[in-house]
Amino acid sequence: MNRTVAIIGGGPAGLCLARILQTNAVSVKVYELEESRNSRPQGGYLDLHEETGQRAIREANLYAEFRANLQPGADRMNVMDETGNLLYQDLGDGAIPEIERQDLKGILLDALEPNTVEWDHKLEKVDSPATDSEQIRLNFSGGKTAEAYIVVGADGAWSKVRNVLSELKPMFTGVSLVDAILSPSFKPTGNLPLGALIASDKNSNLLMGFLGPSSRMYFSTKALTPEEVTVASAKKFIAGWHEDFQVLADSIQNATVRHIFALPPKMNWHRSSDASESWKSRLTVIGDAAHVMSPFAGEGANLALADATDLANSIISALASEDPLTALKSQIENFEQVMWDRAEKAAEMSAQNLNSMFSGGSAAVIAELMFKYSAVRKRTVLKYYKQPQ
Ligand SMILES: Cc1cc2nc3c(=O)[nH]c(=O)nc-3n(C[C@H](O)[C@H](O)[C@H](O)COP(=O)(O)OP(=O)(O)OC[C@H]3O[C@@H](n4cnc5c(N)ncnc54)[C@H](O)[C@@H]3O)c2cc1C
Repeated sequence: MNRTVAIIGGGPAGLCLARILQTNAVSVKVYELEESRNSRPQGGYLDLHEETGQRAIREANLYAEFRANLQPGADRMNVMDETGNLLYQDLGDGAIPEIERQDLKGILLDALEPNTVEWDHKLEKVDSPATDSEQIRLNFSGGKTAEAYIVVGADGAWSKVRNVLSELKPMFTGVSLVDAILSPSFKPTGNLPLGALIASDKNSNLLMGFLGPSSRMYFSTKALTPEEVTVASAKKFIAGWHEDFQVLADSIQNATVRHIFALPPKMNWHRSSDASESWKSRLTVIGDAAHVMSPFAGEGANLALADATDLANSIISALASEDPLTALKSQIENFEQVMWDRAEKAAEMSAQNLNSMFSGGSAAVIAELMFKYSAVRKRTVLKYYKQPQ
C-alpha cells in the first residue's frame, strides 16, 4: 500500500520533516511553489534555540553541517537610541547561534534524496479520497495533481492545507517592515556596532537587523499606514536620527515591504467524527501554517523546526504500529496539542514584545527587555544603561 507523506511547502518546517522521515525509511515528497532552490533570495539570520531549533537539527543528524555554517558574532546584541547612544550590549556567547536562512535550507535540501522536492508545485486545493481509495488528492496550479496517504501543510502563513481544518485567517498586526539587504560594500561607520542591532525612537520607528557580512536591516513603524510603507519610505522612518543611521537607508541594495500578520495565540480545531471526514485525521499543519506570529520573539523558525521533529516522530511511530490508521489519528491529535501549547506561549511573548517595541517608550524599553532576557539566554552583558524612572 502507498503510504507516502506529502509535505506542502519547502521552508524550514517542510524540509526538516522530510529529512527526518526519510532517514527513518518513510516515503516522502515535498511540493514547493518556487521554481527552483535559487529562485528567491532567502537572506536573514535565524537564531536557533537549544530545545527547539537545535534539537531538530540534531534529530535530522545535521548538527556538524549546521555548526560549520554558523556566522560567528551574529548573535552579539546591541540596542541604541536615535541619537546614537549605545544603551545595551552583550556578547551573544554562542549559546543561541545564528545561521543564514539560505544556509539552513541548503543543508536540509542537500541532505534529501534526489527528486524529493517537486519544484513549481503551488497547491490550490486538497480533496477527499475518491471512493474505494485512501489516497488524499492534491491539486496544484496548472492542472498538476498528486495523491498521498498523509498530508502535512508546511505552506506558511497563507496555508491552503489549513483551509481543510479551519476557517481562521491571520490578522494584520499593525506593523509593516521594509526588509532590506544592504550593499555588500556597506561597512558600519561611526558608532554603529557589528552584530545584531535594534534602534528605536519615541515615535514607534524601529530599526532591527544585523551588521557585518551580508548586512540586513528591517525598517519598521506603526506611525505610517500600511499603504504609506514603501521601500522609499525607509528613509522617512529614521529621518532626524543621528547621521550614522542614515547610511543604512542609503546602502539599501534590495528591499521588499512585508506586512506582519499573525494567527490568534490560542489556535485549535476539532475534526468531525463523521466517517466521510475521517481522512482529515491523516492531515495536519506545522510551522507558520499552524501558528504564524510576529517575528518579535524570534521563535517562528524554532517552533517550525520543533513541530517538524515532533510530527516526524509521531508519524514514524504510527506507521510502524499494527493499526496505522487508528495510531495516526491519536498520534496526530496528541502532536497538535503539544504544538498548540508550545506555540501559544511563544505567540503571547511575540505579541507582548511587539507592544513593548512599539509602545513609544523608545530604545530604553527595548534595552530593559534585552537585559531581562540576558540571564535566560546566557549572555554576558557588556553594557546596560538603565533610564532613570
Ligand atoms: C522579518 C522576519 C524575521 C524573522 N526572524 C526570525 C528569527 O530571527 N528567528 C525565528 O525563529 N523566526 C524568525 N522569523 C519567522 C520565520 O521566518 C518563520 O516562522 C519560519 O520561516 C516558518 O517556517 P515554515 O517552514 O513554517 O514556513 P515558511 O518559511 O513560510 O515556508 C513555507 C514554504 O511553503 C511554500 N508555499 C507557500 N504556499 C504554498 C503553496 N500553496 N503550495 C506549495 N508551496 C507553498 C513557500 O514558498 C515556502 O517555501 C522571522 C519572520 C520574518 C517575517
